[in-house]
Amino acid sequence: AETVRLLSSSQVITSVVSVVKELIENSLDACATTIDIRLENYGFDKIEVRDNGNGIKVADVPVMAVKHYTSKINSSEDLERLTTYGFRGEALGSICCVSEVLVTTKTADDDISTQYVLDSNGHVTSQKPSHLGQGTTVTVLKLFKNLPVRKQFYSTNKKCKEELKKVQDLLIAYGIIKPELRITFVHNKAAIWQKNRVSDHKMACMSVLGTAVMGNLCAVFVVSLQINLSGFLPKAESDSSLTSLSSSERSFIFINDRPVHQKEILKLIRQYYSVLMQKDSARLYPVFFLNITVPASAVDVNLTPDKTEVLLQYKDCVLLAVEHVLKSLYGPLPA
Ligand code: ADP
Ligand code: MG
Repeated sequence: AETVRLLSSSQVITSVVSVVKELIENSLDACATTIDIRLENYGFDKIEVRDNGNGIKVADVPVMAVKHYTSKINSSEDLERLTTYGFRGEALGSICCVSEVLVTTKTADDDISTQYVLDSNGHVTSQKPSHLGQGTTVTVLKLFKNLPVRKQFYSTNKKCKEELKKVQDLLIAYGIIKPELRITFVHNKAAIWQKNRVSDHKMACMSVLGTAVMGNLCAVFVVSLQINLSGFLPKAESDSSLTSLSSSERSFIFINDRPVHQKEILKLIRQYYSVLMQKDSARLYPVFFLNITVPASAVDVNLTPDKTEVLLQYKDCVLLAVEHVLKSLYGPLPA
């Protein structure tokens, strides 16, 4: 049973980025408006995510890291109207299985915060009073201590640097989709990146992408009964040196506020953009932000453990809506 637990956990928690993703999604589900992320040794010695959210109720503490426990849904009908990032109750338990975890938390009802030490089964083994404000801090030590091959895989300098970059890209994505969220990111005590609280997506994009790039993007919307699109795409007359990249790192697609990989949508946007720029689309990635909102019942986010691959019920309609926006912006594709 121990081995099975380890295997399933190592599929949910595949890297430093996946730990950070799960922890910040928990913070967002707890309505945090500030999230501070600290890594040591690229996250392999320590990953700490601190939020100012609702905290964890004393009654939930013994079960919080028990696999498949979630405070977020009660029935399968709840899945149809999902508004939280988490719902499978898998993350905290899986992280416990592959590292050493401390959780410090305080709700509005608690007088002081308490730090809990969890074991590899997610059970609390000790607790002590601490001095933090309202919210939750999860500290993950010695990631993959029991998965030497995984640890080895990430041990080169190049891999470590790539992981750090991926964490930053992930934070940037959440920073855009959650304008009101303040984020700080520290590695080995050096500030790597941060974003302040702003009022809307435009300001969020501005702070992340910079004013020069934003000046070359324009707002787009499609509002319909089931599908809403909104975001920023390069203007038809945009300066290609500001709006083109050689990788997709600044192509942001969200479905219901989740950062996702949607190859077909990305491909469509690249096609139109490359015709506009008269360049080969194989090497051209436009800078853009697109948030697609559909009824929760129309997406299945359960294809992959990290929920970045999703199935859309009305995918053709979504593609048509995207194409409609692209045509009105850039004109039709040449036959
Ligand atoms: P899920 O997010 O799918 O519910 P997790 O394993 O990620 O499962 O978390 C388990 C539970 O622990 C959550 O349902 C929530 O009750 C609690 N929890 C975890 N992190 C936080 C946090 N940062 N703030 C408040 N509650 C949290
Ligand atoms: Mg979660």
